[in-house]
Amino acid sequence: MNKFIFVSGGVCSSLGKGVAASSIGALLESRGLNVRMVKCDPYINVDAGTMSPYQHGEVYVTDDGAETDLDLGNYARFTKGRLSKANSITTGQVYESVIRKEREGQYLGRCVQVIPHITDEIKSRILAVSKEDNDTDVVIIEIGGTVGDIESIPFLEAARQIIHECGKSNAISVHLTLIPEVAGGELKTKPTQHSVKSMQETGIQPDILICRSPVIMDEPMRRKIALFTNVDPDAVFTSPNIDTTIYKVPLVFSEQQLDLVILRKLGVESRHSDMKPWLSVMKHFEKRTGKVRIGIVGKYMELHDAYKSLYEALFHAGLECDVEVELIKVDSAGLEETDNPSSLLDVDGVLVPGGFGQRGINGMVKAAAWARENKVPYLGICLGMHIMVIDWGRNVLNWADADSTEFNQDSKHPVVSLLEEQINVTNYGGTMRLGASETVNENGTHILAAYGEKHISERHRHRYEFSNQYRNEMVSSGLKLAAFTPDGSLVECVEWPDHPWGVGVQFHPEFKSKPTAASPLFREFVNAAKKNK
Ligand code: GLN
Repeated sequence: MNKFIFVSGGVCSSLGKGVAASSIGALLESRGLNVRMVKCDPYINVDAGTMSPYQHGEVYVTDDGAETDLDLGNYARFTKGRLSKANSITTGQVYESVIRKEREGQYLGRCVQVIPHITDEIKSRILAVSKEDNDTDVVIIEIGGTVGDIESIPFLEAARQIIHECGKSNAISVHLTLIPEVAGGELKTKPTQHSVKSMQETGIQPDILICRSPVIMDEPMRRKIALFTNVDPDAVFTSPNIDTTIYKVPLVFSEQQLDLVILRKLGVESRHSDMKPWLSVMKHFEKRTGKVRIGIVGKYMELHDAYKSLYEALFHAGLECDVEVELIKVDSAGLEETDNPSSLLDVDGVLVPGGFGQRGINGMVKAAAWARENKVPYLGICLGMHIMVIDWGRNVLNWADADSTEFNQDSKHPVVSLLEEQINVTNYGGTMRLGASETVNENGTHILAAYGEKHISERHRHRYEFSNQYRNEMVSSGLKLAAFTPDGSLVECVEWPDHPWGVGVQFHPEFKSKPTAASPLFREFVNAAKKNK
């Protein structure tokens, strides 16, 4: 029988529930268990794909093309279990499918209600993940939102039913709360007590508490929390503020023996724990010397979560290149106004990330031209590759109006244009070119040198592409077409000639980067930036 761990949060949001759930996954994997992670998102969007990054941060993409919440990115960076469409459950999906079944007459005349129909749909989706692979031992389900939110209630109710049906030794509740510090440095447990009361009102008694606190809580404090919450004193843990890296969290939890308590509660025999990969991440972290300054020229600069996987991938690359990557966030709209890009681009490398819409595009083109002319390493991702092609059209081929048809439908030189398969697409949700597909790298290119392999698989999320009608002019003027789809029909990578390292890719390598294995392209980009210092 599979085991289930439901991770919920209380008091307030942004306590690091995703990192806590992922770290639990990492700890259980370190003890040889096969773990699958699931995120339940209470919003009504069917998936995160139609949301602005300002709403919930970046849209994470899986191999099978699901556009999910950024927490799946955390799971992918901390754990090994497969992630697909099934691992991201939203209220929108649940209602969409229940309403479709109702229209098909599948409920045989019954009145369709939140309980049991919505909750049954949630349960069946969670159970489906547990059955997908024969060797799954534990499914960790993170419930989005904060206990007490109206939207989360059906998910907590589904969790309550699964815990009740499977029995306490097969399904447990881990609840994350906040221990605030008030004037005088005193730590307060009252919000945690109230949060557990809210959980109890839903019918769930948390088995384990993880309290976000400035420092590791002492024994008397843990006892006090235990007394008020019906949780065993040895099941009250601290998630302290960490000033190094989130990848230390599995080690911090392991020191407190969180994994042993989880195994005991789930009746799993204790087995050897191998924390070497996480110890090695911390060793690399401490070994770093010096800094490289990477300018990220994008449009969602105020919100760190908007480029979450990208920043993490740069951090991973720094671990492998023994250097600290300093993120210099440059708002591309600001670059548009200046005649002196060097003043804003005091950096060793420029990265133009993915994005949508017209705002700030000319600032990005300015940044690409600056990096090209000044021989500064450049990595363009998706939109960032389009920007390279637009710059080449405008500034090398001297087509002043060269553009992507995403931004200018009337350009006489549409060097980036809509993918043919997109021409008749009218709906926005889930209709881009999405998910993993194969790319074939050309000989003598940076991309081939980075991956060390001709055939690679990376994930896509776009509607526009390098326009094939310009292949000849682009190539004869020197731009390198460095990788293609296997049938040769789409350009997947362009590179600058006579330049130390200027690479633009149509895919998103950041989604597959891990602290234990950085994305090859990010690694080589940071390496080139290090050399450029
Ligand atoms: N907006 C561009 C497109 O749709 C780029 C997308 C992206 O950067 N992910 O093709």
